[in-house]
Amino acid sequence: MGRYTGPQCRMCRAEETKLFLKGERCKTDKCPITKRRGKPGRNLRARSKKLSDYGIQLREKQKVKRMYGMMEKQFRLFFTKAATQKGITGETLVTMLERRLDNMVYRMHFASSRKQGRQLVCHGHVRVNGRRVTVPSFLVREGDEIELQEKSKKLTAIKDSLKEYSRSGVVPWLEVDPDKVWGKVVAIPRRADITDLAEVQEQLIVELYSK
Ligand code: SF4
Repeated sequence: MGRYTGPQCRMCRAEETKLFLKGERCKTDKCPITKRRGKPGRNLRARSKKLSDYGIQLREKQKVKRMYGMMEKQFRLFFTKAATQKGITGETLVTMLERRLDNMVYRMHFASSRKQGRQLVCHGHVRVNGRRVTVPSFLVREGDEIELQEKSKKLTAIKDSLKEYSRSGVVPWLEVDPDKVWGKVVAIPRRADITDLAEVQEQLIVELYSK
């Protein structure tokens, strides 16, 4: 199955939660979830079907997979790698997802969404420690420096994205210099640091894949 190219908001409505797929718009009243629009194609007053345990686990996995814009095969690969590492598998999985280069570009406000971050990486705009990296799933490490190619720094879309830095700053595990369009991974976040994923129950994903 190919990558989903339909309306982003529809995915949030299907999961009945904000997946933050459209950057700034997600924080405004224009967000359909804020407006409490129901699931796509369903009458608002219709009752939701009660989900089985499997259904609940599946929805949780779909939610996280969609949030990071990943396909099933790659998401499962991330899980397999997380399961082989020391520590709590679910927490390791979430931390690994955060370490993805496309996510870092988004977190540093060089892109307004993870999808845009992915595009920047794929199109060769991003350098890690001075070297061009075109793989969105590249996992950054503590101390890595991320910046855009010189000519890319002037792109209007990037300047617009960086306005969010002046409004809300950056997450504590990253350092950003918006003038140089440069950022550094100060630390690898712990699960508890990733507050916008506070409602995600990653142990349900572990249960799903462990069947
Ligand atoms: Fe659309 Fe963003 Fe709201 Fe999701 S969170 S419904 S992508 S505006």
